[in-house]
Amino acid sequence: MATIDYTDKRTARLDVEFTFAAAHRLPRYDGPCFRMHGHNYQMFVAVEGEIDPQSGMVADFGRVKEIVQEHVLSRADHRTLNDVLENPTAENIARWVYEILAPHLPGLVEVRLYEIPGCCVTYRGSLGG
Ligand SMILES: [Zn+2]
Repeated sequence: MATIDYTDKRTARLDVEFTFAAAHRLPRYDGPCFRMHGHNYQMFVAVEGEIDPQSGMVADFGRVKEIVQEHVLSRADHRTLNDVLENPTAENIARWVYEILAPHLPGLVEVRLYEIPGCCVTYRGSLGG
C-alpha cells in the first residue's frame, strides 16, 4: 500500500449540497412570482481552508451538515420564506443563509442557491460596503 502523508499546508474547498422545499412570493415583482408559490431549492455551502496535516481535512462534512441543519434548514425547510424576509428573492435568500452561517461556520466562502434547475445565485459576502 502506497502511503502519501502530506505535511505541508495547502488549501482546499468543500462544497456541501442541501435541498429544501419552501414557499415564497415576490411582493415587488410584476409577474407570476408575485403570487405565492413554491420551489425545491438546491443549495451548496462552500467552506475553504487549510488542509490540516494531521486529519487531512479542511472540515468535517458531517459537522458542516449539522450546522446548516441547525441554523438554516430548521428555519427554511417547509416554511414560507416571506415570514423571515420581506422580499425573498434567490439573491436575498442566499445572503440570509450566508449571514446566518458566517458566525457558526469557520471558512465559509460562498452560498450558491438554485431556485430552479440551471439558474443559481452565488453570494460571497460583503464587497466592502
Ligand atoms: Zn419563486
